Amino acid sequence: MKNIRTRFAPSPTGYIHVGNVRSALYPYLVARQAFADGDQNARFILRIEDTDQTRFVAGAEDLIVDTLRWLGLNWDEGPGASSNFAQNSVQTTVKNSVGEDVCEIGKFGPYHQTARREIYYKYAQKLIDAGFAYADTTSADDIASYRAECERSGQPFLFRNIRPDNPPEWTPGTSERTTLPLRFKVKELKKYSWHDEVFGDLSAGAEVLDDFILIKSDGLPTYNFAHVVDDNEQHITHVIRGQEYISSMPRYLALYDALGIEWPIFAHLPHIMRPDGKKKLGKRDGAKSVAEYRADGILPEAMLNFLALLGWNPGAGSEQEIFTIDDLVKQFDLSHVQKSGARFDENHLFWMNGAWIRKLSVEDFSKLSNDATQFWGEGAKAATPEFRNQVLRVVADRLKTLRDLPSLTEYFFARPTPNWTMVDNNKQLRKMPRYELKQLLESARDMLNNLTADDFVNADSIQSTLNELLAATGQKPVILFSIIRFALTWAPFSPGLPETIATLGKAETIARLDDAITTA
Ligand code: GLU
Repeated sequence: MKNIRTRFAPSPTGYIHVGNVRSALYPYLVARQAFADGDQNARFILRIEDTDQTRFVAGAEDLIVDTLRWLGLNWDEGPGASSNFAQNSVQTTVKNSVGEDVCEIGKFGPYHQTARREIYYKYAQKLIDAGFAYADTTSADDIASYRAECERSGQPFLFRNIRPDNPPEWTPGTSERTTLPLRFKVKELKKYSWHDEVFGDLSAGAEVLDDFILIKSDGLPTYNFAHVVDDNEQHITHVIRGQEYISSMPRYLALYDALGIEWPIFAHLPHIMRPDGKKKLGKRDGAKSVAEYRADGILPEAMLNFLALLGWNPGAGSEQEIFTIDDLVKQFDLSHVQKSGARFDENHLFWMNGAWIRKLSVEDFSKLSNDATQFWGEGAKAATPEFRNQVLRVVADRLKTLRDLPSLTEYFFARPTPNWTMVDNNKQLRKMPRYELKQLLESARDMLNNLTADDFVNADSIQSTLNELLAATGQKPVILFSIIRFALTWAPFSPGLPETIATLGKAETIARLDDAITTA
């Protein structure tokens, strides 16, 4: 058995959408599961596919590294690798596509494609020697007129039909000198059949086979060529990537065969669709980048959980929806990845985030409360960590993202100004004369004032006082508790009344009731 090695191979184009991260998560899970099952050398690799210089975006690589770190998807080889395995591995410095020095970990580097030119040239030479590649002298004009002719006659555009007869010798370009493009030559028109771990047994006829560019005139390889070379050199056993690559599989297979490379295992991941399932999810559909969801206060655990279920399920009979990364490492299985498009439902992500917030342990809760300072409102920032933590606990039920923190909590930290229009707009309360509401608040204040400050620590003792108050005033709970709730928070939503009162404490509760009474 080969040691399982998987990779995430993003192009640094500056925007990481959910599909990109799913293409990191699944191979990560496959490698970690293999390790847990006893494959000591199972590894997960990060490779930067930066050969398309026209799409280069400054800072994009940092964003990739940062996002993977935030999610806790540690990789073992490649730039910035920091897993346990990475710590005992070789370190080298390479130049990235813009000439900056980058530190890389692992013995199968470089892990930046632009630093691997010599390797591609070696493979290119092998293909040329075996008659599988040629220097392409076809001019842009010739291609355009052939294309027009194909359109006129309804024939498919196949480059192999206009392949030059006597191509000159091909020499690699350098960063200063351009070269002729190097093209793959399809020598045998045959049908390819292959197995996909997700899509099953697939095949495609010769009609899709065509000569394709291996090395561009800037001397850099195309994705089509580079990934086959790199996956081979880096001993990748499982190629896990988006479904959009399936249609090119016959070309890749022809290339593997021409190079005499054994095919790896293929698994293509279903498209991510709009919530209505009708089209592929695009930027225009409001899908935010992962960085934006992070800034919105989505927890990494929730993001991973959500991405895992975007196209995978644990199998028939399981209703499980909340998965920790450890659950996923145990249960993930490529054979349960679905073929049909996976609907992206942002509301489900928010729901899941809420579920994750509520699931946190006491320690994680306080850690979150301390780490989330950028999300807290001004009042909260000035408060003690203990108090923030306490507030976080009482609002947790309502919290979907950390972005909601200020609106859900600020009134705990800063005494709100009474806003009686809220009462006037309230369906139940607006029917009550103001003086009666005022009397209810006075009774509440007097009764709560009889409790000691220590009684306020306990929501249960507050609850029994509120019950006594209910009996004493003879009011309906919805009226009595709503007016007290307003007087204490002046907010449209707040946690349960006893918890709210317990969190505010005696002095603050009484002061707020007094404020409401004097302004009524
Ligand atoms: N660089 C390609 C992309 O970002 C990688 C595809 C693959 O995983 O092979 O889509």
